[in-house]
Amino acid sequence: MCVENTPPPSNRLTRRGVLAGAAALAGTSAVLAGTAPAASASSGARHGSPGRGGDLVVEGGRLLDPATGEVTEDAVVVIAGGVVRAAGPRGQVGRVPGGVPVLRAHGQWILPGLVDAHIHLNTAAEARDAVLKGATSARSGSTNFYQDIAVRELARQAPEQAPRLRAAGVFVTPDLGDTILADPDLAPLARLRDGVRSADALRRVVEVNLARGADTIKTRVNERAGLPEQDPLVQVYDHEQLSTIVAAARRRGKGVLCHSYSEKGCHDAVTAGIRSLEHGAFVGERTLHEMRRRGTYFTPTLTAIAGLAESSDPVLAERGRTYLPVLKRAVLAAHELGVPLAAGTDSSGGTVDPIGREVELMHAAGLSALDAIRTATTGAAKLLGFDSTAGRLARGFAGDVLVVDGDPLADLGVLSRPARVVRAGFAVPAAA
Ligand SMILES: [Zn+2]
Repeated sequence: MCVENTPPPSNRLTRRGVLAGAAALAGTSAVLAGTAPAASASSGARHGSPGRGGDLVVEGGRLLDPATGEVTEDAVVVIAGGVVRAAGPRGQVGRVPGGVPVLRAHGQWILPGLVDAHIHLNTAAEARDAVLKGATSARSGSTNFYQDIAVRELARQAPEQAPRLRAAGVFVTPDLGDTILADPDLAPLARLRDGVRSADALRRVVEVNLARGADTIKTRVNERAGLPEQDPLVQVYDHEQLSTIVAAARRRGKGVLCHSYSEKGCHDAVTAGIRSLEHGAFVGERTLHEMRRRGTYFTPTLTAIAGLAESSDPVLAERGRTYLPVLKRAVLAAHELGVPLAAGTDSSGGTVDPIGREVELMHAAGLSALDAIRTATTGAAKLLGFDSTAGRLARGFAGDVLVVDGDPLADLGVLSRPARVVRAGFAVPAAA
């Protein structure tokens, strides 16, 4: 059974009208009332560029640049309109503007805000929590009803309330469940007895996501680890189906992140051309070589697998205990081969894990402290296409800052307990 070739989503004009109205409300109609269709208006470089923001001077702490590993004593970071205008040793940053709020960081360390490359932000509270816990940029691992598309806009309108976001829309998976209600254009898929498996059905979910403005596409090759009744080594899509999804995303210039566990599944996903492998506990050497050749990212979500080990469900706890050491070995093997790594917590369901915890786990897997920090700064920023915006504090980058109470190169634990978080030049209070 295939899906009828019905026209693409018909509500673009309506949505643009609503957006224009909202922009006028916020006094930004010149910015949003463009002529591009909704999908292209909400994708591309504009989301990667620092937008409106606050003015702030952070001064007195030690500044760590993850790109070079350089530490600057008694540093000053000048942020204007949410963008770093200068960062460096006092005396070399030029005149610090008067009348601007100052955040004193004497005795503390200053880093760029961190990037969570795999997080599920289904509520405004989760979006706020992610920022408070240090993730000032993020990539969505899908949401049930396109909340991530709205979170991305929230981040532009009120940056202190949400991480700068790459949205994934809804999960491309055989059984959409309640997500079938996320968009009327998904409804024809409800008639499929076998779920979303045919090329037509797979393309439709991708296309509805892209029409809604998704920046990336999330799919899976294996079942879930977090459900005791599922076997994460069972494959749900084959190489051909994954290739269909990748091709549909690529037609609009988008990449695919793929939930994967088994080596065969990882290999099928990577050779189908995904942009990043998610979880990937049993990824083998041949696939890692292929990832290195293609530049495919690895987002191991160690935090989520470590979390399984603490589950009250005995099946999940056993799974977590078995998978975590295997995954850590895979992370180290990937790093040693030169496969790019990105930190992601896979937080979902109301609890946001600090992205600093993932950095600690990367270090526990065998990366140096600086390389572990890079997985949540320069490395993840590059994966998200935020590499000229996030991951560093240098002129032109976003004014997203973490102030921590100690040397992160000596104790990465400080990243999970930021003393202050600055998002686009706005200082937000630390998490309780
Ligand atoms: Zn996930």
